[in-house]
Amino acid sequence: MFEYTGNMHIHSRYSDGSASIGQIRSYAKKAGLDFIIVTDHFNMKAADQEGYKNGLLMLVGMEANEAHNHYLALDIGQVVKNNTAHPQEVIDAVNQQGGIGIIAHPLEYASNFLNEGNVYNWIDWSVEGFQGIEIWNLLSQWKGSISSFCKAFYYALINPQAALIGPYPQTMRRFDEYQQQGKRIVAFGGADAHAPGIRLGPFHFKIISYPFSFRSINMHVLLQQPLSGHLSIDKKMIYQAFRNASCWVADDYYKNSRGFSFTLCGDGGSWNIGEDVPWQKDLQCRVSTPGWAKVKLYKDGKLVAENEGTEHLFKGIDRGIYRVEAYLRYRCKYRPWIFSNSIWAI
Ligand SMILES: [Zn+2]
Ligand SMILES: [Zn+2]
Repeated sequence: MFEYTGNMHIHSRYSDGSASIGQIRSYAKKAGLDFIIVTDHFNMKAADQEGYKNGLLMLVGMEANEAHNHYLALDIGQVVKNNTAHPQEVIDAVNQQGGIGIIAHPLEYASNFLNEGNVYNWIDWSVEGFQGIEIWNLLSQWKGSISSFCKAFYYALINPQAALIGPYPQTMRRFDEYQQQGKRIVAFGGADAHAPGIRLGPFHFKIISYPFSFRSINMHVLLQQPLSGHLSIDKKMIYQAFRNASCWVADDYYKNSRGFSFTLCGDGGSWNIGEDVPWQKDLQCRVSTPGWAKVKLYKDGKLVAENEGTEHLFKGIDRGIYRVEAYLRYRCKYRPWIFSNSIWAI
């Protein structure tokens, strides 16, 4: 398998981001990303700039809806109209184009220091037919963590990473519930890169810069073939990996998760993230982390095993839906790091 790293939730000056497309490309290239997906609010003005530049692939989707029910739409050719009150209409419009639709930052916590205390939660859970849930959103979680002036100051100027506590348990529960219902919902993670301005007393400055965002919550995809360098071919491969859930979410800031692997192995071979294993006796789960980590193995949404180290072997794998979470040991603390999509042993 061939692994590539990208960032898939980015705003430019075409909506409320503070950088141009050229600057975004340059920051992403410097961060070592292979691809980025620009998702401006309500428009795809960057679409005619899709493609490779300096070895970095840029794709363009969009984000729909305003006060709540934000929805990311990827792999579409036409802008979809907002319908904040009836998000099913937006989901259907994306599906009509054969696109990938993702419920963005479904759960937020308010902060008086950003967005005037507003939250942009997903409210209508009666919807159907979407492909993914953004389980971890950098800007959204950062905002939710700044509950006081001191925290705002610390997280804005000294240590923005300290605001990242990992996907909210409620969101993971919801993700697991969908999977238990047999729905192949894919877990995504996004920067929601804007580099917005914040006012703290007399001071006004930009927070969560693009360079910082592109080194934090990223998507890693696994492809059967290497990228070709051609827009049309590579766009298909990356979006297909998303559809297949052949990907994981990681905060790459302290340690890049490149090289992570999670497989189920048996006599008949081994199966990767996003694949279905025809169930067989004596299946084992192997996880390899490119750094010392505590790995938690979840089966059908329940924690069933834990291990610390870099190589992790779990035996006695029964029928079920498996995913792993890895917490990186960094400076004597375990930090939220890798959140995989599932392998289905059915
Ligand atoms: Zn949003
Ligand atoms: Zn956004």
